Parts: sequence; structure tokens; C-alpha cells
Amino acid sequence: MKRDPVLTARGVGKTYVTGGGTVTALSPTDFSVERGEFVMVSGPSGSGKSTLLAIVSGLLTPDSGHVEVLGQDLTQLSRHQGDALRLASFGFIFQRFHLIPALTAMEQVSIVLRRQGLKSRLADVRASRVLEDVGLGHRLKNRPDSLSGGERQRVAIARALAKRPRLIFADEPTSALDSSNGRQVAEMLRATALDEGTGVVCVSHDPRLEAYADRVVRMEDGCIRTEA
Ligand code: ADP
Repeated sequence: MKRDPVLTARGVGKTYVTGGGTVTALSPTDFSVERGEFVMVSGPSGSGKSTLLAIVSGLLTPDSGHVEVLGQDLTQLSRHQGDALRLASFGFIFQRFHLIPALTAMEQVSIVLRRQGLKSRLADVRASRVLEDVGLGHRLKNRPDSLSGGERQRVAIARALAKRPRLIFADEPTSALDSSNGRQVAEMLRATALDEGTGVVCVSHDPRLEAYADRVVRMEDGCIRTEA
């Protein structure tokens, strides 16, 4: 396969100093994602999955190593430059959806597009199109409290997809969902990688998702143990 990495991390590690000593959350680790690749990171609780995800998405600065994304070293960017790169090129999906209670489904998505500089009418048109793509064309005016868990996660996915990101980072995106909604979310992430060429990094301990991934990276005690 021709290699076309969109993210390359080399030797990234993180140790926390706590009251009782130090905790090595992540031993120096290499990790990469190709364009259009859906990579799943699995492993037991406390194995370092969230730490790895936070480092490779630029939310956490590692103690060692470098993360190169789209030709830029994330660990060398100023806070402002990092924020700008994330806004332009990264989509995030969280376990608990992180929707804003007062906003309708369409506003949750269009606000991100407006922040990127799109005029509000265009942002609304694109937001409704993406919500239709995830099967929520009939829920555009609903606020989170009138949506089911599966629908809320689809709004969060639409919010991540609308800006056509180069990378999507998902942290346990299906753990608050039943198996049918979980499957739909996994299918959407897979389709995004395949159709849009987006690199997708998904942290999950749900073994049902492994079938959708191009590659599964297993972690244990802050290290990558196996890749399949
Ligand atoms: P996972 O996502 O696989 O559950 P984490 O990356 O959250 O694992 O955590 C890895 C290890 O680092 C755990 O032992 C956790 O307790 C520890 N850890 C994570 N964040 C902190 C922190 N801010 N301070 C101290 N220890 C932390």
C-alpha cells in the first residue's frame, strides 16, 4: 500500500507527578495514521488511550517526542496556532456528545462553520445538508433534550464532519449508545474515512467496533502491545 501519512507521532510520552509519586500514562510511543485510514485504539481502562489521543490531537503536550500533522509539528505550535489548526482541520467526537443545550441541531453544526468564516446562510445550508446525510433531516430544529442518545451522537458527528476535517478524533463515541446506534456510528466513521479520505482515530474498548477499523492498536500499561 502506498503510504500517505496524515499524522505521525514519534516517541511521544507522558508522566504525571502526583502526590504519591509519578504515573507514566504513556511510555515513549510511535503512532501514525494514513489518509483515509480508520484506526481504532483499544485496551483496558487506565492503559493510556486517552493520553495518546490527547497528545496526537494537540490537546496535551507530551514530555517527549513530536507529532507531525499536515506538515506541522504540533508540539512546536503556539496555543493560538494549535487552536487554529484544530478548528480548520480536526473534528472531535466525545462519549457524552458535548452539545450546547440551548442550540438546535442545525445551530450546533452551523456555529462551527460560522466560526470558520462561512456566512450564516451558507453555514445553515451546509449544516442542514450534513444533518440530512446522518439521517437527521427531520430533526433540524430540535434541541438536545428532545433528541435520543443516538440522535445526539449523530448531531455531534455532523458537527465534526461539516467542516470536512482531515482528521477525526473520537473518544469512546459509542459507549453511551445501544448496539444498533453504536453500529451506525461506526459505519459513519468508516464511510467518512473511505469516502472523504479522512484519517480517523477512535479510542474504544467496545470489541464490536473492531470489525469496522482498518487497523486496531492495542494498549496496555501505557504501551502499544500489538497492532492488527
Ligand atoms: P485510558 O484512556 O486508557 O483509560 P488514560 O490515558 O486516561 O487511560 O490514563 C492512563 C494513566 O494515567 C492512568 O493510570 C491514569 O490514572 C493516569 N492519568 C491520566 N491523567 C492523569 C492526570 N491528569 N494526573 C495523574 N494521572 C493521570
